[in-house]
Amino acid sequence: MAKEPMLKFVSVGRDMPLKREAEERTGDFLEIYGEFIADKAQEQASRCSQCGVPYCQSHCPLHNNIPDWLRLTATGRLKEAYELSQATNSFPEICGRICPQDRLCEGNCVIEQSGHGTVTIGAVEKYITDTAWEEGWVETISPAVEREESVGIIGSGPGGLAAADRLRRAGVQVTVYERSDRAGGLMMYGIPSFKLEKDIVLKRIEQLEKSGVEFVLNCNVGEDISFDAIRGKHDAVLIATGVYKSRDLTGPGAGAEGIVRAIDYLTASNKVSFGDDVAEFDSGALNAEGKKVVVIGGGDTAMDCVRTAIRQGATSVKCLYRRDRANMPGSQRETQNAEEEGVEFVWLSAPKGFTGDPVTGVMVQKMRLGAPDASGRQSPEVIEGADYIEEADLVIKALGFSPEDLPEQWETPELETTRWGTVLADFASHATSLDGVYACGDIQRGASLVVWAIRDGREAADAMLEYLTNAASVAAE
Ligand code: FAD
Ligand code: SF4
Ligand code: SF4
Repeated sequence: MAKEPMLKFVSVGRDMPLKREAEERTGDFLEIYGEFIADKAQEQASRCSQCGVPYCQSHCPLHNNIPDWLRLTATGRLKEAYELSQATNSFPEICGRICPQDRLCEGNCVIEQSGHGTVTIGAVEKYITDTAWEEGWVETISPAVEREESVGIIGSGPGGLAAADRLRRAGVQVTVYERSDRAGGLMMYGIPSFKLEKDIVLKRIEQLEKSGVEFVLNCNVGEDISFDAIRGKHDAVLIATGVYKSRDLTGPGAGAEGIVRAIDYLTASNKVSFGDDVAEFDSGALNAEGKKVVVIGGGDTAMDCVRTAIRQGATSVKCLYRRDRANMPGSQRETQNAEEEGVEFVWLSAPKGFTGDPVTGVMVQKMRLGAPDASGRQSPEVIEGADYIEEADLVIKALGFSPEDLPEQWETPELETTRWGTVLADFASHATSLDGVYACGDIQRGASLVVWAIRDGREAADAMLEYLTNAASVAAE
């Protein structure tokens, strides 16, 4: 009888691909994790206990068939593992790198809960598709039948790209409109390359271009072309514009020079990595080199800012957050990476105002956690008389994002929005209040994750296909 290839979690410990030492990795912007070698990927995949009810799968927003592709990897059937993995995920190598696995698939792995350490699902997923690219298994899309209908997609982030991929596979003509000079959305200009190297995203965009998807860059819908014109050009439209309005700070001195928005800071850094000329980086306005940096916020954007500032050569980097470590929204893994790289966290601290213009310091109020609020989270309360000044010559605001006012910008008051300003759309079909117009990703659900945008984009594409097919059959009657 063949030897059981799986259930090795008792004899084989959890192992991640090699993580570069902090001292080495802070000297560049390359990813911090290496790749599994084939034997290691096989060994780590073999730890899976092949649960009958796989909680990893139910907690993956894409419901990836994790146990089956782990088994195929463990038994060396890598091409089949790739085919299975890409059947449910448009960009598995991206999710394998940047999903917060500790909150999703891996956080719900039963062997983690029984104390053996989770199966390293994300690292295996990345390994499978990175290998597929190397081996030439990732092919240009060539639909069996070309359809006449066209879809216009506004925004080229993971939501828009996942929809483009799925629609193109069905033979639909797809045009993606993007206001930026490069496609990819936050995967290109928000997320730093030490988490997601840009050639990974570029390869996907190139694959879509070769597959016939047309990209219209530097095209701000609402300014360069009207939303109505887009609707007139296409049989259906997908809004995948993300959320970009930065939440702001108030208080004395909040408008001082040297207080910048996280998205501007991260975009400049990513553009510089491409070799672009960025005047605000060259002038020092968006460059942390030689500065005392204070980042305000406790989410993943804040973690990306502090780690970017370290790599740019800041003299000190502090992260101010009004709650404590246990209550921060950012991933614990990213917080640990930041600490290893020399970031200092100042917990239970909130900005009250700023000194100097250009800024010289943050007036900090010390907080304690009080009674839980309606959501069950403990509310921060001010400790009177404990204020102090934290020196800073660059302050980065990383307090989250909210949607732009699309109905106003696009002069389309009939496009219904929620009370949070996100586009109102059905959560299964993604249909909005306008006929033939769909929405997906952050602009529908609010600031979220790449994996959720991919799921939304795929679902919206399926609903649009149904819409186009129904419209075609009505026209034929
Ligand atoms: P986006 O990626 O925002 O793409 C929207 C696109 O639409 C953009 O390219 C924009 O330029 C374009 N656009 C907007 N308006 C117009 C217009 N009028 N005309 C034409 N084009 C327009 N998620 C993770 O899963 N893991 C992470 O590690 C992670 N890190 C993050 C780090 C940062 C700094 C930030 C800000 C977010 C991070 N996220 C992360 C969240 C994730 O990036 C988003 O949830 C995801 O990108 C949303 O995808 P989307 O397609 O909805 O929108
Ligand atoms: Fe886990 Fe994300 Fe991959 Fe799903 S897509 S298996 S949540 S890493
Ligand atoms: Fe394997 Fe863990 Fe998923 Fe169970 S929960 S199937 S052990 S990866």
